[in-house]
Amino acid sequence: MSVLPPHCSAQRFHEALRLFGSIVGETHVVVSDNELIEYADPFAPGPQEPRFAASAAILPGSVDEIREVLRIARSYRLPLWPVSTGRNYAYGGAAPRLSGSIVVDLRRMNRILEVDETLGYALVEPGVTYFDLHEHLRARGAKLWIDPPAAGWGSVVGNTLERGFGYTPYGDHAAMQCGMEVVLATGDIVRTGMGGIEIGRSWQLYKPGFGPSYDAMFMQSNFGIVTKLGIALMPRPASYLLAHLRFGGEADLEAIVETLRPFKLDETIRNHAVVEGAVRFAAGVSSRGEWYDGQGPMPESAIDAMTKRLGIGRWNLRFGLYGEPEIVEAQFSVVKRAFSRVRGVRIEAARYAGDARPEGGGDRNMAGIPTMTAFRMLDWRGGAGAHVDFSPICPFTGRDAMRQYWLAKTRCAEYGFDYYGGFTAGTRHLHHIVATIFDRDDAGQTDAAGDLLRVLISDARAAGYGQYRTHLAYMDLAAAQYDFNDGALLRLSETIKDTLDPDGILAPGKSGIWPRAWRDRRGYT
Ligand code: ADP
Repeated sequence: MSVLPPHCSAQRFHEALRLFGSIVGETHVVVSDNELIEYADPFAPGPQEPRFAASAAILPGSVDEIREVLRIARSYRLPLWPVSTGRNYAYGGAAPRLSGSIVVDLRRMNRILEVDETLGYALVEPGVTYFDLHEHLRARGAKLWIDPPAAGWGSVVGNTLERGFGYTPYGDHAAMQCGMEVVLATGDIVRTGMGGIEIGRSWQLYKPGFGPSYDAMFMQSNFGIVTKLGIALMPRPASYLLAHLRFGGEADLEAIVETLRPFKLDETIRNHAVVEGAVRFAAGVSSRGEWYDGQGPMPESAIDAMTKRLGIGRWNLRFGLYGEPEIVEAQFSVVKRAFSRVRGVRIEAARYAGDARPEGGGDRNMAGIPTMTAFRMLDWRGGAGAHVDFSPICPFTGRDAMRQYWLAKTRCAEYGFDYYGGFTAGTRHLHHIVATIFDRDDAGQTDAAGDLLRVLISDARAAGYGQYRTHLAYMDLAAAQYDFNDGALLRLSETIKDTLDPDGILAPGKSGIWPRAWRDRRGYT
């Protein structure tokens, strides 16, 4: 291995690794540089010297093994970085925030513990991927849908804990989470909500339980290792309709957002509708070189020519309607009427039976089918494609959407990047996701992507917006922006951290939360 845990001699580290091996089995302790590559972030922006490097990885096979691993880590003061499948790409992959941390890779714990078809939920372990759960439901003929995020290969647990989202009416994964089992740094095991009742019959059915509710506390935090997680599953609808609306003007974004909001608020549209910019849409069906091969961002004329040739919009709105065909048709005609007022809009819809499997990744995601087509974006620019995402929350108003769009587009252009973005519709907010795509074999581009992200996050904060999720490199910056009352929120998180994890062994630096033992590392990458 090339990195040691901080403050740990090679001798002590080897001693600890031997102990870890005696718990999880030697073959489940990874130390060779060759194998540790898997735990490096393949999409790291910024300077290319090794940052966020794991010293080792351990793959426990059970909750009991996790508790033993924690016991050893506490006695040797070794920082651990738990991941479920480690596919948190664009935000750090499996790599730890604090270099020298040991990745605790939970992929071996991959049982689907329960599927309840009557009440519509599943209880899964961390290693269960969206593909696994989807296949499991299909194999048993269950009339339930999952809600996959754009890339289906990740885990239900990891994505939900990061507050990821998908595109069916169950797209808000954190909201659909129902009950958790968590191992605390001390080794104590907690079940949240109704799971607190030993012989309980409602763990996945009523999240709050009795008294304070803790589920959200274990999301985007470093307060525990989640070993089981409940997720609500949507009953397969009788039918669904997928709509695609194309808009010709850049400034149409304002009207799109204003027209969409009432339908989200009154739940006519229940899924996470997406408004995609032309470049992001085009990347699903073509590559950049077909349209432009000059330096710098694509000129407007090239974008116009591209949209014409591909028959796509400057903005492309896609949403789904789900249920009995008569209701779906009635909803569609109401929505269509409202959007027809936007000049030049082209409206298309495809209708499916509930068990149909549409073609195309975006459509599949809206039908609860996991895919990997989102990764086509990596070929957009050519070379060794990577991306890092700017992910501010945007109020659901046309004005805010336009403001964030101009802000991002202008800065992207300044640093030589296209605006590769879109908005995913929550109810009162939009997730604005702007991917900075770069060739990681090109040091200039990789550095520029790193700088651009920092500037975008600062610009957004100056305008009153905050990030919902960031890459490891910007976690401290994003956390510092939540600065009400001199950073009371982060102070609270760190008070909780020091209480639950006094040795500071669990994921130091995650979401900007540093335990006392490592607080001097804040800001250093
Ligand atoms: P994916 O499902 O995309 O593979 P990851 O496994 O990379 O997701 O998880 C994303 C992030 O969520 C990790 O970097 C880690 O901070 C956190 N995380 C994932 N799984 C767990 C877990 N079981 N317990 C605690 N934190 C977790």
